[in-house]
Amino acid sequence: MVWIVLSFVILIGWFSFRYNWWKRPVNYTFPRILMYHLVREHIGRNKYNSLRVTPDMFEKQIKYLYENGWASFTVTEALENVDKLPSKSVIITFDDGYRDNFTNAFPILKKYNFKATIYLVNNRDHLGLKSEPRLTDNDVFELINSGLIEIGAHTLSHANLNKLNFDEKKKEICESKQTIEEQFNIKCKSFAYPFGNYNDTDKKIVSQCGFGSAVTTKVGIADLRSCDLFEIPRIAIRGRDNFFAFQLKLKTGKRGMIK
Ligand SMILES: [Zn+2]
Repeated sequence: MVWIVLSFVILIGWFSFRYNWWKRPVNYTFPRILMYHLVREHIGRNKYNSLRVTPDMFEKQIKYLYENGWASFTVTEALENVDKLPSKSVIITFDDGYRDNFTNAFPILKKYNFKATIYLVNNRDHLGLKSEPRLTDNDVFELINSGLIEIGAHTLSHANLNKLNFDEKKKEICESKQTIEEQFNIKCKSFAYPFGNYNDTDKKIVSQCGFGSAVTTKVGIADLRSCDLFEIPRIAIRGRDNFFAFQLKLKTGKRGMIK
């Protein structure tokens, strides 16, 4: 008998530590900015599966947001309407520009009329996951024409800004914006730091190039009315998260003690 009670207590303890389910939600007038990379099936025990959210799970997440009254915005739309964002606003973002954003995620977004911002690397041959197909320019045009997708920049070559000198940083950041604007005939106002690496100089360059915001990989939920717009945290949606973890992240930004 004692050991049954004891194992029950241990189980509850483990569950609580893992999920921090008792934590209070972050103020729902702060928009949730979700960070995704790939939407596709997992590959065996590949270590990058945490970047791969399966299409079924992605649809479950979007359907949940849709059915529970979350309103979706692109990053720029949210910033332009920052004083009148409804409670429960969500901003879906994808980094890098993988092709499954178009083939797998986009049909689901369209189905629920949800918006997203894709942070595109110009020279997509430089992306880390060599085997994953990249968005083609035609895909990008189609995404833009849907009116649901904002294209942001993510440097020319997915550069590690920590390793570049000032001129190299400037080229990677500012030319990524210019190239996207010329190539797709749009305004490119949003930026994401590759690998989440940045310092004060990078922030200044991003702002001086004319971007209106920059997102990081820092985990959190910020008040867009008052936070530093060149250092915006996001909620990392991981391929290994179960649905309960997704719901907790919407509430608090984190899944328990682990991000
Ligand atoms: Zn990236």
